[in-house]
Amino acid sequence: TALGGKRVAIAEEFRVGGTCVVRGCVPKKFMVMASEVSHALEIAEGYGWSFDSAKFDWPTFLEAKDVEIARLSGIYAANLGKAGVDLIHGRAVLKDAHTVEIAGKGEDGGPLVITAEKILIATGGRPWVPADLPGVEHAITSEEAFHLPELPKRILIAGGGYIAVEFAGIFAGLGVETTLIYRGPNILRGFDDDVRAHLAGEIEKRGIKVILGCQHTSLEKTATGIVNHLENGMALETDVVMFATGRVPHVKDLGLETAGVALNDDGAIKVDAFSKTTADNIWAIGDVTDRMNLTPVAIREAVAFHETVWRDTPTAFDYEAVATAVFSQPPVGVVGLSESEARHVCKGEVDVYVARFRPMKYAFTGSDERVLMKLVVDATSQKVVGVHIVGPEAPEMIQLAAIAVKAGLTKAQWDATCAVHPTMAEELVTLKEKQSPTTSAG
Ligand code: NDP
Repeated sequence: TALGGKRVAIAEEFRVGGTCVVRGCVPKKFMVMASEVSHALEIAEGYGWSFDSAKFDWPTFLEAKDVEIARLSGIYAANLGKAGVDLIHGRAVLKDAHTVEIAGKGEDGGPLVITAEKILIATGGRPWVPADLPGVEHAITSEEAFHLPELPKRILIAGGGYIAVEFAGIFAGLGVETTLIYRGPNILRGFDDDVRAHLAGEIEKRGIKVILGCQHTSLEKTATGIVNHLENGMALETDVVMFATGRVPHVKDLGLETAGVALNDDGAIKVDAFSKTTADNIWAIGDVTDRMNLTPVAIREAVAFHETVWRDTPTAFDYEAVATAVFSQPPVGVVGLSESEARHVCKGEVDVYVARFRPMKYAFTGSDERVLMKLVVDATSQKVVGVHIVGPEAPEMIQLAAIAVKAGLTKAQWDATCAVHPTMAEELVTLKEKQSPTTSAG
């Protein structure tokens, strides 16, 4: 029996750790950190350092990263063992609401059949690409980007969401000629408009070519690379093309129908506020339910499931004021409402405070990069309902700002907090001038 006194088994067809550890957040962040070094070197030169033979070796990095990912995955597997969980390496398929079959894992190599009182589905998501686009089979997704046999000289990334923007930064920082193409008017749809505009400008300063309002018409493999034929008539050859056009819940061939587990209109497992599916004894959490596709959210959904189902304390995770970070270069940190969301939600007036400044760190460099900090305040209650930061260390800052937003503190309470000087974050407690409504982005 496991820690809670229950008999628990987990079926995992690949490596333990899931998207986050194996092909998401964790290896991505290592890639970002490898990439950011080039920028740090540029800054260092302004401070008097010189690096005559600085060079980056992709295979060395890949190996170090893979060793670390294997170590982390091993720790997760070991922790399951310590907790008393049976880990079965195989693919689980539901046969009915209480029966799971795992091919090849039974005696004599037949299927292993397990019955369970309760079942939890956490199969995550998979990259999605427009399958009807001619030549799309020549493109990779983020999954392959973690294992490219060599660093390309030229890459084109399609999409304007988290993954597209993060990988564009990674490759550009590593010296790859990088083009980002996005169908909409600006990257990061759903984020605050000032953040979107600011980031688009900043990533161009870092050398990424951004093409907006445009899509592929086809991809064509040639002897020297892949030609991207675009709607605007351009034909752009690159060595690698990566599609980051979204992810879809991983529900295929799980036997959901047989078990009475229904999907919603978007193809995700339909769940109630307590993560219960349409089958009475089956729950689902994480990306497979497509609620808020972030690792810490999935963990909270798991905790709420445990409280609800095993501790008799019905608990629904509260999705309000969940902070998030985009590990672009520079990165973005956001918590709460964008200005336009706030104008809808806070029926009354919204106060907006914006600061744009050059980080002190760049004083000796030729860089004209700017940091953006923006507070969105409900004018009636004076609560700070949104914080938006684009700039170095934004993800670290937003975690702390999120405490104040989650606690519902007012602008006056933020201002009563004394600054830490000299920092970038001190701007957050010293913003005095309200932005006039005419200049604020909608
Ligand atoms: P997103 O949903 O964030 O972005 C998908 C992008 O692809 C959008 O820009 C979308 O455009 C575009 N797109 C969709 N369909 C097409 C199409 N047919 N042709 C061209 N473009 C298309 O997905 P990602 O794959 O970037 O990431 C998936 C999710 O994973 C994120 O939303 C996030 O929840 C999570 N994630 C979180 C990270 C973090 O916390 N740092 C990092 C990476 C992922 P449009 O906007 O016009 O719809």
